[in-house]
Amino acid sequence: GHRGPPLSVSSTDPLADWRLAEEPFYQPVGEEIAGFEAARAARLPVLLKGPTGCGKTRFVEHMAWRLKLPLVTVACHEDLSAGDLAGRWLLDGEGTRWMDGPLALAARHGALCYLDELMEARADTTVLLHPLADTRRALPLERHGELLHAHPDFQLVVSYNPGYQGLHRELKPSTRQRFVALGFDYPEPEVEAAIVAREGGVDAELAMRLVRLAVRTRRLREEGLDEGASTRMLVHAALLHRAGLPVRAAARQSIADPLSDDPQLAPSLRALVDASF
Ligand code: ADP
Repeated sequence: GHRGPPLSVSSTDPLADWRLAEEPFYQPVGEEIAGFEAARAARLPVLLKGPTGCGKTRFVEHMAWRLKLPLVTVACHEDLSAGDLAGRWLLDGEGTRWMDGPLALAARHGALCYLDELMEARADTTVLLHPLADTRRALPLERHGELLHAHPDFQLVVSYNPGYQGLHRELKPSTRQRFVALGFDYPEPEVEAAIVAREGGVDAELAMRLVRLAVRTRRLREEGLDEGASTRMLVHAALLHRAGLPVRAAARQSIADPLSDDPQLAPSLRALVDASF
């Protein structure tokens, strides 16, 4: 590859696509910004734990912007393997060339790398993270015959949802113990309503009514619901209402109906919506 001075910024900045153009709005809930900044100063990898749709991804985007770092995000899924994160050989007209996977790209050039829902990925991915997540800060790219030493700006962030294991296993102690953890949860009603009002473009009163509904659905976990309505779902309800649906229809469509297909729970959720609006 090219080893000299940059030819031009646009053609040689391998992280150009991963820079944030503007500040992502993030409403702090506790001490998470100070906690992240301390982890950043020590270059420690960070584990974000919490239910889906509670602001983990938005938080990482906000921190990347604050720290002026590119953010390479990977949405983990059940087919995602260590090889996908590391990279692969591509065959083209001129022969074969190596292409870094997202993790190698971030480690080589110095980005934040965010592996969203790490537990969804195949088990070999967590093993790949080990040397990168401890003092070695190295990524073995076996297929490339390279031990990649991470750029000083590189930092690893992963998220997972402890309440939802699904088919997947727990995080192994050898993995967890390499990370510092920041716990996330749905914020206090006033704070959550402020987020919904801002993100969904609705007034404070409607936002608060949506939050109260969410709190009721979260109690249905005791009846077997996997997870109650997230902040994300409330934002969706607000957006549907803004797009012209009456609130009740908006809340059914964005909250009650997506949450469950269970013959007992689905009617309970609709009843909660009808009682709220
Ligand atoms: P997660 O990554 O935890 O699944 P997200 O970060 O994608 O969730 O949050 C889902 C949506 O909820 C965001 O797009 C945003 O609209 C809203 N949201 C949740 N929490 C916050 C927060 N603290 N500040 C700003 N927006 C938030």
